[in-house]
Amino acid sequence: MPQLLTDKNSNINLKNIKSLIKKYESPFWVYDSDMIHKKINLLKQFDIIRFAQKACSNIHILRIMKKNKVKIDAVSLGEIERALVAGFKPKNNEIIFTADIIDQDTLSKIVDLKIPVNVGSLDMLTQIGKRSPGHHIWIRINPGFGYGHSKKTNTGGENSKHGIWSPDLAIPIIQKYQLKLIGLHMHIGSGVNYTHLKKVCKSMTENAIKLKQKISFISAGGGLPIPYKVNEKPMDVKKYFELWNDSRNKISNFLGQNIQLEIEPGRFLVAESGILISQIRAIKQMGNKNFVLIDAGFNDLMRPTMYGSYHHISIIPKNDRYINEKKTIETVIAGPLCESGDVFTQTNKGDLETRKLPITQVGDYVVFHDTGAYGASMSSNYNTRPLIQEILLEKNHFRTIRRRQTIKELLNLEI
Ligand SMILES: *Cc1c(COP(=O)(O)O)cnc(C)c1O
Repeated sequence: MPQLLTDKNSNINLKNIKSLIKKYESPFWVYDSDMIHKKINLLKQFDIIRFAQKACSNIHILRIMKKNKVKIDAVSLGEIERALVAGFKPKNNEIIFTADIIDQDTLSKIVDLKIPVNVGSLDMLTQIGKRSPGHHIWIRINPGFGYGHSKKTNTGGENSKHGIWSPDLAIPIIQKYQLKLIGLHMHIGSGVNYTHLKKVCKSMTENAIKLKQKISFISAGGGLPIPYKVNEKPMDVKKYFELWNDSRNKISNFLGQNIQLEIEPGRFLVAESGILISQIRAIKQMGNKNFVLIDAGFNDLMRPTMYGSYHHISIIPKNDRYINEKKTIETVIAGPLCESGDVFTQTNKGDLETRKLPITQVGDYVVFHDTGAYGASMSSNYNTRPLIQEILLEKNHFRTIRRRQTIKELLNLEI
C-alpha cells in the first residue's frame, strides 16, 4: 500500500515535505533512496537484477543502481548514453540494449562498444549480423500471449509488436552470421498474476528446450506489480522467484550447464520511492462537481491520462490548519493544460472520476504517491511547459538531481 505521509519510518514524511515545499518551487518530483535500496534487496535471490531504466532514467537514480550491483537495460541510444554517464561499463553484460528495431546510430554504438543486444525482430537480427558478426545477442521471445495492467502495457500475444514470434526462425540467421546467442528473454507485460506467470515460465522452459542452444542466461523480464491502492498487498517475491527458479533448473538440467537467472524490473524498483508535489491554484464548482486545479499537468504525470492509472493522493495544508481526513468531498483533480483530458482522476476509458478528499484551499499542496516509475521519465513539453525538478532524498538530506528546464532552453531548439 502507499506509504502515508504520517509514517514516521519513511523519509517521505510530513516534516521533510514541508521543508521541501519551502525550498523548491512546485511542481516537483521527490525520490527516497532508502526505498530504492529496500526494493533492490527484495530481489537479491536472482543472480542478476537488471533495471529497466525507462521507468526512471535520471542519471543519479542509475548511479544508485550501479552502486548496488544492479545492471541496466537501455531501449534507445539516449538510454545507452545515460548508462555510460552513470558509470555502467559496456563489458560484463552491464548494459544490454533491448529493442524490436535498431537505427543506424544505435547500431554503430552497440558495435563500437560491443554492447549485447536483446533482439526483438528477425530483421534486426540480420542487420546486426551483417554489421557485426560474432556479436553477443539475446532473443526476446513473444510467447504468443501477454498480460498488462492496461491494453497499452500488454507486451505479448498477437496484438503486441514486441519480440520474436517463432524463435526457431532466428537460429539460421544466428548461424549465418556466427552471432553468439547468450540468453533468452521474455517480457510479457506489466502487472502479473501467478497463474499467468506459470504459463510464462512454462513457455520459457519449452522454448529453451526446443531451441537447444548453449545459452548462459534466461531473463524473466519485468512487470512486477506494486500496490498502488491502500488495501492492495505487495507481490510475493519468493513465489515469483520459485516459479522462475524452477524453469531455470529445468533448462539447466536439459542443457547440462549453468544458467543464470535474470530479472528486469522497472516499476518494482522505483515506483514507491517517488512522489509528485503540486500546488492547488484554483477551486471551482462545475454544476455539482468540485474541481480542484493544480499546477502539475499530464505533461508532467502522464499515467492517469494515458492508462487511467490510480495514484493515491494526500493533501498538505499551506498553513498550520488542521485537515480533517474524515470530512471529505467528492473531488476531481485536474491540471493546467489546455486539454480536457488533463485530469488525474479518470478511468482507463477516459471517464471522469471523483476522489473522496478533504476540503482544500487554494495554496494547499497535492501529493501524488508512487510516481517514481513512469513519472518524470514519461513527461513531455506539451503546452510548452518546461520539465520540472527532481529531488533526491537521502535520509533527511536532499539535493536537486535535475533542475527545472528553462523556457529559453526549450525555445532555443527552434531559434
Ligand atoms: C518496460 C520494460 C521492462 C520493465 O517493465 P516494468 O513493468 O516497469 O517492470 C522490462 N523489460 C523490458 C524489455 C521493458 O520494455
